[in-house]
Amino acid sequence: MEKRPFATLEQLREIEKTYPTPFYLYDEKGIRENAAKLKQAFSWNKGYKEYFAVKATPNPFLLNILKDMGCGTDCSSMTELMMSKACGFTGHDIMFSSNDTPPEEFAYAQKMGAIINLDDITHIECLEQTLGYIPETISCRYNPGGVFKVSNDIMDNPGDSKYGMTRDQMFQAFKTLKAKGAKHFGIHAFLASNTVTNEYYPMLAKILFELAVDLKEETGAHVSFINLSGGIGIPYRPDQEPNDILAIGDGVRKVYEEVLVQAGMDDVAVCTELGRFMMGPYGALVTKAIHEKHTHKEYVGVDACAVNLMRPAMYGAYHHITVMGKEEAPCDHVYDVVGSLCENNDKFAIDRSLPEIEKGDLLFIHDAGAHGFAMGYNYNGKLKSAELLLKEDGSVEMIRRAETPEDYFATFDFCDILKCVD
Ligand SMILES: *Cc1c(COP(=O)(O)O)cnc(C)c1O
Repeated sequence: MEKRPFATLEQLREIEKTYPTPFYLYDEKGIRENAAKLKQAFSWNKGYKEYFAVKATPNPFLLNILKDMGCGTDCSSMTELMMSKACGFTGHDIMFSSNDTPPEEFAYAQKMGAIINLDDITHIECLEQTLGYIPETISCRYNPGGVFKVSNDIMDNPGDSKYGMTRDQMFQAFKTLKAKGAKHFGIHAFLASNTVTNEYYPMLAKILFELAVDLKEETGAHVSFINLSGGIGIPYRPDQEPNDILAIGDGVRKVYEEVLVQAGMDDVAVCTELGRFMMGPYGALVTKAIHEKHTHKEYVGVDACAVNLMRPAMYGAYHHITVMGKEEAPCDHVYDVVGSLCENNDKFAIDRSLPEIEKGDLLFIHDAGAHGFAMGYNYNGKLKSAELLLKEDGSVEMIRRAETPEDYFATFDFCDILKCVD
């Protein structure tokens, strides 16, 4: 499917007058429509809730939009909990799905009334020592081990992943937690990432629903929710078929009826912790071509770099690029589109067929709305960009300012050594 930017060249030129490139732009309309569709897909389940994975796009303005759409948050660190709290998320609208968790974060999560999702059986003791008790509502993360195969090209390796508990540990954990006063149990697993298929959630649901029936039978625990976590992907490449969230919801419903309803467990709430699916397509990195270089290859240098979007450098990830205003021009040039880091992997595209790019052209890097800005870092002393929101009425709001050198030097403010920089 052809990828079209959610903003026009005219809009971007206008924005650029106030906010210089590079910047992130998010599409409020797209975010809301997608969140509404997800809700519809799971509307058959009474207790359904999406807990947005804050790590994907930790911006309070965006969290507030999702809150308005009925979402909670999924956190895995102190600052994600703090941001959720500041946005007004409270109690069971927060899922704390952390791992290797510092005890003080358990304490903070519990003080907020968040649901704690334990990554390991040994965390029961840590939690009890930290809080002095075990919360009545508690969740455990499952890792079945081995290889999890959805289709020939979609699989992941739970056996190699650091997350979750083995099947035996799940039973032991439920028994121990129950003996210590837990009353309402959740089960969580995240077995494959960025799945572009309608099969993943129903397959995962079957594993977790069957486990829930076994856990209930053997331990007598009341399973009150099952958390399908993240992992629903997006089509980064134009030739990929996007997921059909309504079909996914319906696939989970069928398994729910076959397994849970059959076992008399028809009060179990389903929840999700989607990140990429909620935000990925609705955020773009907008950058300007500032150099062209003709050596052993053809290079276009842009004013953004891997600090602004790390996925291509880190994973070799594909991000589609539209050269604004040249949507209909033939892609008769082959470029490496590069940033300015002193790292040869700082390339947004390699050997990419694109229309001829001239200095000053604006490039719209698609599908950067999740795990994009959030992964930013400050290597080479590069600064992070602003984040802007394209609102439903067409206006643009700054939702994070760009970093300044003062921000970069701020951690030296305990001394005078850099006081003279200007
Ligand atoms: C990262 C993460 C998510 C979100 O994953 P996506 O691939 O963005 O959907 C959900 N839950 C947990 C525990 C995570 O670590």
